[in-house]
Amino acid sequence: MTLRLLAVHAHPDDESSKGAATYAYYRSIGAEVMVVSCTGGERGSILNEHLEDRARAERDLGGLRRLEMQRAQAIMGIDHRWLGYQDSGLPEEGETVPEGSFATIPLEISAEPLVALIRRYRPQALVTYDEIGGYPHPDHIRTHEISMFAFRAAADPDQYPGTGEPWQISKVYYDRIFNAARMRAVHTLLTETMPGNPLIEAIEGMKRWMDDAPDLATTHIPVGDFFEVRDNALKAHASQVAPDSPFFFWPNDLLRTAWPTEEFQLVESNVSSELPETDLFAGVVDTDAGITHTTDPINTTDPIKKTDEVTA
Ligand SMILES: [Zn+2]
Repeated sequence: MTLRLLAVHAHPDDESSKGAATYAYYRSIGAEVMVVSCTGGERGSILNEHLEDRARAERDLGGLRRLEMQRAQAIMGIDHRWLGYQDSGLPEEGETVPEGSFATIPLEISAEPLVALIRRYRPQALVTYDEIGGYPHPDHIRTHEISMFAFRAAADPDQYPGTGEPWQISKVYYDRIFNAARMRAVHTLLTETMPGNPLIEAIEGMKRWMDDAPDLATTHIPVGDFFEVRDNALKAHASQVAPDSPFFFWPNDLLRTAWPTEEFQLVESNVSSELPETDLFAGVVDTDAGITHTTDPINTTDPIKKTDEVTA
């Protein structure tokens, strides 16, 4: 069975900071991965002081970000689609979101192309953000809403006739890659082995959040071999990321020791799988062939040899 993962993101660059290593890992074991960017990121800021293409970014940030996304896509080896909506921007206090931007379009309208895509691509697993969008940017919250709406609508034969045969996604996950347990593990190992690393201070700045954050992860994907792919994909979004950012670029060998996984939270499932999982497709059933996808929880580094066991 061909495994297909669909990841829905708000802006180009979100896929690289939230899940790139997981996508590269799944490509390496033969799964298909499709990233959807809901908006073009046109209202973003230029966040890299030393950007080579600064003149172009100031003239046409949306155009530059399309090129950056193309580069990141090639680095991860994934498929990519634009949903085509306008970035809503991050409003200052008292400001409203610009008319016509992604967050202002009624869900029943903005979800239609995503429903059509789900029916055509037929993913078994979908990854999106939680109810507050991971962080409260209007486009991230909308990305959560459109994903959950389209997940249900795509399976309902009465909705959106003419956009293809209904498709039931087996499993839906929230991204929990940015989690407190990982921060704590990295902080401990850094203080022991690389005192003075600027990341230590950055992590300590989030101490209050770390102390309060609940551990919601159900699923830990072994992606240690793909941290460099993630870094390179993120660097492709040069207008958004300074290449020396201690927040984004961690010492990967240290990370492979401290925390070699990316985390997700299973929130919807139509199949049975045992939690915690090490595979987004655990328990997925190929209904045509009567095959259940299984992963050996012990041998997580080489799951492909253990897949597609016939259970019927
Ligand atoms: Zn974003």
